Amino acid sequence: MSATELISVGLDIGATKVHGVAVDADGAILAEHREPTQLGPDGVVRSAAAVVAALASAGVPGPVGVGVPGLVDPDRGTVKYAVNLGLNGDWVPLGEMLADRLGTSVMVENDVNAATLGAHLIAGADDVAYVSLGTGLAAGMVLGGVLRRGFHGAAGEIGHLPVDPNGAQCSCGQRGCLELVASGSALAAAWPSADQPPAQALFAAAAGGDECAIQVRDRFAAGVADAVRVIALAVDPRAIVIGGGVAALGEPLRLAVSAALARQAESSPFLASLDLPGRVQVVPTGVPIAALGAALLGRKS
Ligand SMILES: [Zn+2]
Repeated sequence: MSATELISVGLDIGATKVHGVAVDADGAILAEHREPTQLGPDGVVRSAAAVVAALASAGVPGPVGVGVPGLVDPDRGTVKYAVNLGLNGDWVPLGEMLADRLGTSVMVENDVNAATLGAHLIAGADDVAYVSLGTGLAAGMVLGGVLRRGFHGAAGEIGHLPVDPNGAQCSCGQRGCLELVASGSALAAAWPSADQPPAQALFAAAAGGDECAIQVRDRFAAGVADAVRVIALAVDPRAIVIGGGVAALGEPLRLAVSAALARQAESSPFLASLDLPGRVQVVPTGVPIAALGAALLGRKS
Protein backbone atom coordinates (compact mmCIF):
# COMPACT_ATOMS: atom_id res chain seq x y z
CA MET A 1 0.00 0.00 0.00
CA SER A 2 1.31 3.46 -0.82
CA ALA A 3 1.38 6.26 1.74
CA THR A 4 -1.22 8.15 -0.30
CA GLU A 5 -3.96 5.55 -0.04
CA LEU A 6 -6.98 6.15 2.20
CA ILE A 7 -7.00 4.19 5.46
CA SER A 8 -9.70 3.64 8.06
CA VAL A 9 -8.65 4.52 11.58
CA GLY A 10 -10.05 2.93 14.72
CA LEU A 11 -9.39 4.19 18.26
CA ASP A 12 -10.04 2.32 21.49
CA ILE A 13 -10.01 5.03 24.16
CA GLY A 14 -9.48 3.54 27.61
CA ALA A 15 -8.69 5.02 31.00
CA THR A 16 -4.93 4.43 30.67
CA LYS A 17 -4.23 4.44 26.94
CA VAL A 18 -5.59 5.26 23.50
CA HIS A 19 -4.92 2.32 21.20
CA GLY A 20 -5.25 3.09 17.50
CA VAL A 21 -5.11 0.98 14.35
CA ALA A 22 -4.98 1.84 10.65
CA VAL A 23 -6.92 -0.66 8.57
CA ASP A 24 -7.07 -1.29 4.82
CA ALA A 25 -10.19 -1.98 2.75
CA ASP A 26 -10.03 -5.71 3.63
CA GLY A 27 -9.90 -5.09 7.38
CA ALA A 28 -6.18 -5.93 7.62
CA ILE A 29 -4.21 -3.93 10.21
CA LEU A 30 -1.51 -1.78 8.58
CA ALA A 31 -0.24 0.05 11.66
CA GLU A 32 -0.84 0.32 15.41
CA HIS A 33 -0.02 3.08 17.88
CA ARG A 34 -0.65 3.72 21.58
CA GLU A 35 -0.53 6.91 23.64
CA PRO A 36 -1.27 7.46 27.34
CA THR A 37 -4.77 8.89 27.81
CA GLN A 38 -4.92 12.47 29.00
CA LEU A 39 -8.11 12.93 30.97
CA GLY A 40 -10.98 15.36 30.48
CA PRO A 41 -12.65 16.28 27.15
CA ASP A 42 -9.69 18.31 25.83
CA GLY A 43 -7.16 15.74 27.06
CA VAL A 44 -9.00 12.85 25.41
CA VAL A 45 -9.20 14.76 22.11
CA ARG A 46 -5.46 15.64 22.30
CA SER A 47 -4.48 12.00 22.96
CA ALA A 48 -6.75 10.71 20.19
CA ALA A 49 -5.40 13.27 17.70
CA ALA A 50 -1.80 12.28 18.57
CA VAL A 51 -2.60 8.63 17.79
CA VAL A 52 -4.26 9.52 14.46
CA ALA A 53 -1.22 11.66 13.53
CA ALA A 54 1.14 8.75 14.27
CA LEU A 55 -0.98 6.39 12.13
CA ALA A 56 -0.84 8.76 9.16
CA SER A 57 2.49 7.16 8.18
CA ALA A 58 0.44 4.16 6.95
CA GLY A 59 -1.71 6.24 4.57
CA VAL A 60 -4.08 9.18 4.43
CA PRO A 61 -6.45 8.97 7.41
CA GLY A 62 -10.04 8.71 6.19
CA PRO A 63 -13.02 8.26 8.50
CA VAL A 64 -12.23 7.68 12.16
CA GLY A 65 -14.19 5.34 14.44
CA VAL A 66 -13.91 5.64 18.20
CA GLY A 67 -14.82 3.19 20.97
CA VAL A 68 -15.24 4.68 24.46
CA PRO A 69 -16.57 3.39 27.78
CA GLY A 70 -19.78 4.84 29.15
CA LEU A 71 -23.12 5.68 27.64
CA VAL A 72 -22.87 6.69 23.97
CA ASP A 73 -25.37 8.28 21.61
CA PRO A 74 -23.90 7.12 18.27
CA ASP A 75 -26.22 9.36 16.22
CA ARG A 76 -24.94 12.51 17.91
CA GLY A 77 -21.43 11.25 18.74
CA THR A 78 -21.90 12.16 22.39
CA VAL A 79 -20.66 10.41 25.53
CA LYS A 80 -21.85 10.36 29.16
CA TYR A 81 -20.71 8.60 32.37
CA ALA A 82 -17.20 7.85 31.03
CA VAL A 83 -15.98 8.73 34.52
CA ASN A 84 -12.61 6.97 34.09
CA LEU A 85 -11.83 9.28 31.17
CA GLY A 86 -12.72 12.37 33.19
CA LEU A 87 -15.87 12.87 31.08
CA ASN A 88 -18.29 13.66 33.87
CA GLY A 89 -21.53 15.59 33.98
CA ASP A 90 -23.53 16.31 30.86
CA TRP A 91 -23.21 14.72 27.42
CA VAL A 92 -19.77 15.44 25.92
CA PRO A 93 -19.81 16.02 22.12
CA LEU A 94 -16.67 13.91 21.61
CA GLY A 95 -17.42 13.10 17.95
CA GLU A 96 -17.83 16.76 17.00
CA MET A 97 -14.75 17.86 18.97
CA LEU A 98 -12.58 15.19 17.33
CA ALA A 99 -13.99 15.83 13.85
CA ASP A 100 -13.16 19.56 14.21
CA ARG A 101 -9.64 18.73 15.34
CA LEU A 102 -8.98 16.11 12.63
CA GLY A 103 -10.94 17.54 9.72
CA THR A 104 -12.56 14.18 8.95
CA SER A 105 -15.78 12.39 9.88
CA VAL A 106 -15.83 10.63 13.26
CA MET A 107 -18.18 7.93 14.52
CA VAL A 108 -18.40 7.22 18.25
CA GLU A 109 -19.60 3.95 19.76
CA ASN A 110 -19.57 2.25 23.15
CA ASP A 111 -16.33 0.25 23.54
CA VAL A 112 -18.05 -3.11 24.03
CA ASN A 113 -20.09 -2.52 20.88
CA ALA A 114 -16.94 -1.54 18.98
CA ALA A 115 -15.25 -4.75 20.15
CA THR A 116 -18.35 -6.68 19.08
CA LEU A 117 -17.86 -5.41 15.51
CA GLY A 118 -14.24 -6.59 15.71
CA ALA A 119 -15.40 -9.99 16.98
CA HIS A 120 -17.86 -10.17 14.09
CA LEU A 121 -14.97 -9.64 11.67
CA ILE A 122 -12.68 -12.30 13.17
CA ALA A 123 -15.46 -14.86 13.71
CA GLY A 124 -16.66 -14.50 10.11
CA ALA A 125 -20.33 -15.32 10.82
CA ASP A 126 -23.55 -13.26 10.55
CA ASP A 127 -24.66 -13.87 14.14
CA VAL A 128 -21.92 -13.28 16.71
CA ALA A 129 -21.98 -12.41 20.40
CA TYR A 130 -19.08 -10.84 22.26
CA VAL A 131 -18.62 -11.29 26.00
CA SER A 132 -16.38 -8.68 27.62
CA LEU A 133 -14.63 -9.77 30.82
CA GLY A 134 -13.25 -6.42 31.91
CA THR A 135 -13.78 -4.58 35.17
CA GLY A 136 -17.42 -5.60 34.74
CA LEU A 137 -19.25 -8.08 32.52
CA ALA A 138 -21.12 -7.00 29.40
CA ALA A 139 -22.00 -8.51 26.06
CA GLY A 140 -22.59 -7.20 22.57
CA MET A 141 -24.38 -8.74 19.61
CA VAL A 142 -24.23 -8.60 15.86
CA LEU A 143 -27.39 -10.29 14.55
CA GLY A 144 -27.98 -10.79 10.85
CA GLY A 145 -24.83 -8.73 10.28
CA VAL A 146 -26.19 -5.71 12.21
CA LEU A 147 -25.05 -4.42 15.61
CA ARG A 148 -27.94 -4.68 18.10
CA ARG A 149 -27.89 -1.79 20.57
CA GLY A 150 -31.42 -2.14 21.95
CA PHE A 151 -34.05 0.48 22.75
CA HIS A 152 -32.06 2.04 25.62
CA GLY A 153 -28.63 1.01 24.37
CA ALA A 154 -28.75 -1.65 27.08
CA ALA A 155 -28.77 -4.79 24.89
CA GLY A 156 -26.30 -7.31 26.28
CA GLU A 157 -26.04 -5.87 29.81
CA ILE A 158 -26.02 -9.42 31.16
CA GLY A 159 -23.58 -8.54 33.95
CA HIS A 160 -26.58 -7.21 35.87
CA LEU A 161 -28.61 -10.39 35.58
CA PRO A 162 -29.27 -11.42 39.20
CA VAL A 163 -28.28 -15.08 39.61
CA ASP A 164 -27.97 -15.40 43.40
CA PRO A 165 -30.78 -14.10 45.67
CA ASN A 166 -28.38 -14.37 48.65
CA GLY A 167 -25.47 -12.77 46.82
CA ALA A 168 -23.73 -9.50 47.58
CA GLN A 169 -25.19 -6.09 46.83
CA CYS A 170 -24.27 -4.86 43.33
CA SER A 171 -23.47 -1.24 42.44
CA CYS A 172 -26.55 -1.29 40.17
CA GLY A 173 -28.81 -1.67 43.22
CA GLN A 174 -29.72 -5.33 42.73
CA ARG A 175 -28.36 -8.31 44.65
CA GLY A 176 -26.29 -11.25 43.38
CA CYS A 177 -25.57 -9.97 39.85
CA LEU A 178 -23.62 -12.22 37.48
CA GLU A 179 -20.72 -9.76 37.22
CA LEU A 180 -20.06 -10.20 40.93
CA VAL A 181 -18.80 -13.68 39.98
CA ALA A 182 -17.81 -13.41 36.31
CA SER A 183 -15.68 -10.32 35.70
CA GLY A 184 -12.09 -9.19 35.99
CA SER A 185 -12.75 -7.34 39.24
CA ALA A 186 -14.60 -10.35 40.74
CA LEU A 187 -11.62 -12.53 39.87
CA ALA A 188 -9.17 -10.00 41.34
CA ALA A 189 -11.21 -9.89 44.56
CA ALA A 190 -11.29 -13.69 44.80
CA TRP A 191 -7.57 -14.12 44.02
CA PRO A 192 -5.63 -10.94 44.79
CA SER A 193 -2.12 -10.82 43.36
CA ALA A 194 0.49 -8.11 43.63
CA ASP A 195 3.22 -9.33 41.28
CA GLN A 196 1.19 -10.36 38.21
CA PRO A 197 -2.35 -9.91 36.86
CA PRO A 198 -4.77 -11.83 39.14
CA ALA A 199 -6.16 -13.91 36.25
CA GLN A 200 -2.68 -15.13 35.29
CA ALA A 201 -1.77 -15.79 38.94
CA LEU A 202 -4.98 -17.75 39.56
CA PHE A 203 -4.75 -19.91 36.43
CA ALA A 204 -1.05 -20.62 37.03
CA ALA A 205 -1.74 -21.70 40.63
CA ALA A 206 -4.65 -23.89 39.49
CA ALA A 207 -2.53 -25.46 36.75
CA GLY A 208 0.09 -26.17 39.42
CA GLY A 209 -2.44 -28.21 41.41
CA ASP A 210 -3.37 -25.71 44.18
CA GLU A 211 -6.77 -27.02 45.37
CA CYS A 212 -8.03 -23.63 46.49
CA ALA A 213 -7.03 -22.03 43.17
CA ILE A 214 -8.76 -24.83 41.25
CA GLN A 215 -11.99 -24.12 43.18
CA VAL A 216 -11.78 -20.36 42.56
CA ARG A 217 -10.94 -20.86 38.88
CA ASP A 218 -13.80 -23.32 38.37
CA ARG A 219 -16.30 -21.02 40.10
CA PHE A 220 -15.18 -18.13 37.89
CA ALA A 221 -15.35 -20.32 34.76
CA ALA A 222 -18.85 -21.49 35.74
CA GLY A 223 -19.92 -17.84 36.02
CA VAL A 224 -18.52 -17.06 32.55
CA ALA A 225 -20.25 -20.21 31.29
CA ASP A 226 -23.52 -18.85 32.75
CA ALA A 227 -22.98 -15.66 30.74
CA VAL A 228 -22.32 -17.67 27.57
CA ARG A 229 -25.39 -19.84 28.18
CA VAL A 230 -27.67 -16.83 28.75
CA ILE A 231 -26.64 -15.20 25.51
CA ALA A 232 -26.70 -18.47 23.58
CA LEU A 233 -30.24 -19.25 24.74
CA ALA A 234 -31.42 -15.67 24.09
CA VAL A 235 -30.11 -15.17 20.55
CA ASP A 236 -28.37 -18.43 19.50
CA PRO A 237 -25.35 -16.87 17.78
CA ARG A 238 -23.00 -18.91 15.59
CA ALA A 239 -19.98 -17.84 17.65
CA ILE A 240 -19.47 -16.41 21.13
CA VAL A 241 -16.19 -14.54 21.40
CA ILE A 242 -14.73 -13.79 24.84
CA GLY A 243 -12.61 -10.65 25.18
CA GLY A 244 -11.64 -8.02 27.74
CA GLY A 245 -8.60 -7.96 30.03
CA VAL A 246 -9.11 -11.52 31.35
CA ALA A 247 -9.07 -12.87 27.78
CA ALA A 248 -5.29 -12.27 27.70
CA LEU A 249 -5.22 -15.73 29.33
CA GLY A 250 -5.98 -17.17 25.88
CA GLU A 251 -6.42 -20.93 25.47
CA PRO A 252 -6.48 -21.82 29.22
CA LEU A 253 -9.54 -19.54 29.58
CA ARG A 254 -11.29 -21.14 26.61
CA LEU A 255 -10.59 -24.62 28.02
CA ALA A 256 -11.88 -23.69 31.51
CA VAL A 257 -15.09 -22.12 30.15
CA SER A 258 -15.67 -24.97 27.69
CA ALA A 259 -15.23 -27.51 30.51
CA ALA A 260 -17.76 -25.59 32.65
CA LEU A 261 -20.23 -25.52 29.73
CA ALA A 262 -19.77 -29.26 29.21
CA ARG A 263 -20.46 -29.88 32.93
CA GLN A 264 -23.62 -27.76 32.78
CA ALA A 265 -24.82 -29.82 29.80
CA GLU A 266 -24.20 -33.21 31.45
CA SER A 267 -27.77 -33.49 32.75
CA SER A 268 -29.40 -31.88 29.71
CA PRO A 269 -29.48 -33.49 26.27
CA PHE A 270 -31.10 -30.22 25.11
CA LEU A 271 -28.13 -28.06 26.22
CA ALA A 272 -25.68 -30.70 24.97
CA SER A 273 -27.31 -30.57 21.53
CA LEU A 274 -26.47 -26.85 21.29
CA ASP A 275 -22.71 -27.55 21.46
CA LEU A 276 -21.86 -24.40 23.43
CA PRO A 277 -18.25 -25.52 24.15
CA GLY A 278 -17.67 -25.73 20.39
CA ARG A 279 -18.97 -22.19 19.81
CA VAL A 280 -16.80 -20.36 22.33
CA GLN A 281 -13.69 -18.53 21.14
CA VAL A 282 -11.26 -16.24 22.94
CA VAL A 283 -9.92 -13.15 21.19
CA PRO A 284 -6.52 -14.20 19.79
CA THR A 285 -3.54 -12.77 21.66
CA GLY A 286 -2.43 -9.41 20.33
CA VAL A 287 -5.57 -8.67 18.29
CA PRO A 288 -6.77 -5.15 19.31
CA ILE A 289 -10.40 -6.12 18.91
CA ALA A 290 -12.05 -2.85 20.03
CA ALA A 291 -9.78 -0.62 17.91
CA LEU A 292 -10.30 -2.95 14.94
CA GLY A 293 -14.07 -2.81 15.37
CA ALA A 294 -13.94 0.97 15.74
CA ALA A 295 -12.13 1.20 12.39
CA LEU A 296 -15.00 -0.70 10.75
CA LEU A 297 -17.42 1.74 12.37
CA GLY A 298 -15.68 4.72 10.81
CA ARG A 299 -15.90 3.13 7.40
CA LYS A 300 -19.71 3.15 7.53
CA SER A 301 -19.89 6.90 7.97
ZN1 LIG B 1 -25.82 -5.37 39.08
